[in-house]
Amino acid sequence: MEKICVAVRVRPPVTEESASGAYWKVDDNRISLQKLHDSPVSGASYAFDHIFDESCSNAKIYELLTRDIIRAVVEGFNGTAFAYGQTSSGKTFTMNGTEKDPGIIHRAVKDIFDRIQMTSDREFLIRVSYMEIYNEEIIDLLAVENQKLQIHESLERGVFVAGLREEIVNNAEQVLKLIESGEVNRHFGETNINVRSSRSHTIFRMVIESKEKDTNSVNHFYSSDAIRVSVLNLVDLAGSERIAKTGADGVRLKEGKHINKSLMILGNVINKLSDGAKNRGHIPYRDSKLTRILQPALGGNAKTSIICTIAPEEVHIEETKGTLQFASRAKRIANCAQVNEILTDAALLKRQKQEIEDLRKKLQGSQSEVLEQEILKLRNDLLKYELEREKLEMELKEERRSQKEREQRIREQQIKIDNLSSLVTSSDVHGNSSQVNPAKDCMLMDLLTVDGVLANFKTLKTEVKYASEEQDSGRYRITEDYNDSNSKSQGEPFRTPCFKAGPNAFVAKRSQYSTLPDCSPLPDTFSNVADEDTWLKMNRGYIADLDSIQMTPARKVQSFPSSDVTPDGSNKNYNQEVQNLKRQLELAIEERDELKRKHAEQLTLNDRLTCEISELQREAQLFQEIPQRLCECAANCKDIYVDVLSMTQSSISDGSSTAKLLSSMSEIGASLFTTLESHFSMALDGPRSFTENDFKEYRKVLFERFNSTIKSLVSSETQSIQNEQVTNLPCSGEYKGCAVGGEIGYWKENLSDELHTIKERYHDLEMELQSNNQLLEACKQRYDTLEAEFLLLKEERDSLHKMVSESSKELALVTDQKENVMKDFNTESHKRKGLEEKIKQFSVAFACRKMSLASFHGEFKSKIERLRAQNRVLALKSLEC
Ligand code: ADP
Ligand code: MG
Repeated sequence: MEKICVAVRVRPPVTEESASGAYWKVDDNRISLQKLHDSPVSGASYAFDHIFDESCSNAKIYELLTRDIIRAVVEGFNGTAFAYGQTSSGKTFTMNGTEKDPGIIHRAVKDIFDRIQMTSDREFLIRVSYMEIYNEEIIDLLAVENQKLQIHESLERGVFVAGLREEIVNNAEQVLKLIESGEVNRHFGETNINVRSSRSHTIFRMVIESKEKDTNSVNHFYSSDAIRVSVLNLVDLAGSERIAKTGADGVRLKEGKHINKSLMILGNVINKLSDGAKNRGHIPYRDSKLTRILQPALGGNAKTSIICTIAPEEVHIEETKGTLQFASRAKRIANCAQVNEILTDAALLKRQKQEIEDLRKKLQGSQSEVLEQEILKLRNDLLKYELEREKLEMELKEERRSQKEREQRIREQQIKIDNLSSLVTSSDVHGNSSQVNPAKDCMLMDLLTVDGVLANFKTLKTEVKYASEEQDSGRYRITEDYNDSNSKSQGEPFRTPCFKAGPNAFVAKRSQYSTLPDCSPLPDTFSNVADEDTWLKMNRGYIADLDSIQMTPARKVQSFPSSDVTPDGSNKNYNQEVQNLKRQLELAIEERDELKRKHAEQLTLNDRLTCEISELQREAQLFQEIPQRLCECAANCKDIYVDVLSMTQSSISDGSSTAKLLSSMSEIGASLFTTLESHFSMALDGPRSFTENDFKEYRKVLFERFNSTIKSLVSSETQSIQNEQVTNLPCSGEYKGCAVGGEIGYWKENLSDELHTIKERYHDLEMELQSNNQLLEACKQRYDTLEAEFLLLKEERDSLHKMVSESSKELALVTDQKENVMKDFNTESHKRKGLEEKIKQFSVAFACRKMSLASFHGEFKSKIERLRAQNRVLALKSLEC
């Protein structure tokens, strides 16, 4: 918050005589009234930010009062400078200046372009407009055909004048030429006080948009996206005037009343603002076009300076005091200026939104448009959240589907693991219960078990890999959807603009609209009461209650029929209807608040959902790692297998049956691992995985191959033993048999070691699978809660949707009703006027009749008197006769 900067400028005296005695003494930043010969007047001393005496130039005033504001405007702040004071006190002189000493506007324009030139890291777009408020109507000074322009307010542009011509300019000269052409169209008039008195308030406006130049620097990424939009208003107010002094009549009088009225409302606004935030209450910005346009500059988002000009002559002391009191109160106002920064895309969206709003307004044009706008915004937000929710819902469905598939696969794997377990157990059992040839059978079964374990392990691994890949692809899908949703959301017309905060800057977001319609309409006849005395009272700090003014003389001439005049009592009905309408409006406002609250709740819910989705993504990542781990396990198994075989082979002499068996085993093992690896690579590369039948088939082939090797070995072994039994001594045969048995035992031991390692691996895998299952279970539960929440949200959204549509229907209804009421009201007013006219005519006729009756009565009476006198005379005469 920063206070408005207020300065006072004393104009040089007009005549030599008035210069001889100074009434206003300037002492640094204090100005006080003094009688002649230096005796100060008590209670008439004021202090301000700056006080400029008669000798002060426009250049110095610009330097001290306006330069900082211009600097801020180029940096993205809104800025306003305006001149206030009685007519002929030097406002126009200060704002426009002369050729020798250009005024604030001229200097500001030059300064802006100089600063832009100096700001090499940003590019600028500047638009200018020039308007005046004449007799409470806005006229475009750059296009005089644009008259009676309307003020609108929107969420994005704030308060603005619709239809005002904006020229894009590139240099100061261009702007000054435009101002010159606009000056021609200004309303000036001659009064007793000022030969060229400004009869209107003029507002010169510059809109400065700037964007950081593309530097391709990473650090500048965020800020280079942002656009700063600032507005500079330079205002030359028309002067307040005492009609008696200015000698205004006819057109000038009408102008003077309008000028005084709007200045009075400006004073009213300043008074209320200077009361401090707590006591402030409703600020009547909407009571005049001037205050409405200056709304951001007075207590809003702008850096503001006011220069109050005063005339030093004795004859103007009262007005000067009034101006200084106004200035004192203005000094208490605090504004809150912010850099207005928006994003490029957001700017585009804003414009689209703006167009939609404008169209809506054109279509509806109701007084409750502000409220409607709010509801529209909420509706847009709801739409946006609905879209987001739908996307999330789709993602959830997708996730659930893939999760089901995963579960199915895991179930199948579980079954396989169970089968494997039983196989392992049965191999142990077989190993123990072998009767015929325990050593060979056991070895065979162990090999079969190794084969089965490896085959099943391969199946399991491939399938887990496949399942996790599916999940993985699901994850990518989600990521794509996210990206997609991001890109989509950028293009969505109703997306809430994405504001980004840059360093030392923040997004200018309009705060809430006031919950009550911010207007207190003035009656048309108000200008009749806004005379110079009321204005003077205003300057002295008197706060005019505009509503009470409405009820006084102005009200009396309004055509509300009184109950005794209109026998049907329609006035009561209208009042009733107006009350109803008010109530409906209040209800609509309440509804809007409720919608806002729900909107906020939805925001938090959405945040939570996003968090949960990212959690799920993390879990999916874990699943993705499973096949990798399985791969590692397989590699380890292979290493162990190779080690075991090489060790066994190294301890056995070449050419023996065991060596043959081992080499055959080595072949089978190599073939097994090659197949396993090829399956892994197939599973990694393509979607196809080996079915269980494939594996069974493959196992059968290997088993047959292994069996035939064993059989051939056994038969050759038997043959050689028999041969040796025939030729050699029994002891040597026994010895050889012992040697073969020992070799087999050693070999069996190695194999059982290997089997043991594989079992351990298998056990590890099983544990891993279990933990994965648990994870999946947790995921499932989370999905269920998410789904429940989604359903709740959906219900809420539906109900909100319903409420919004109902309230908009109600609004439309209320608007219709209001229009009808207004129509009826107007016709009734016309009727009433007619009736009043008739009553008047009738009363006049009645009065005439009464008068003629009275005169007739008088005549009649005198005639009777005369007749009676005559009768009396005649009677006397007859008596005499
Ligand atoms: P306002 O706009 O307040 O009605 P003007 O700016 O038109 O008043 O000033 C009225 C007259 O006083 C003009 O002729 C102007 O040149 C002159 N004037 C005002 N202020 C000064 C000043 N500071 N120095 C010289 N002349 C001034
Ligand atoms: Mg002027």
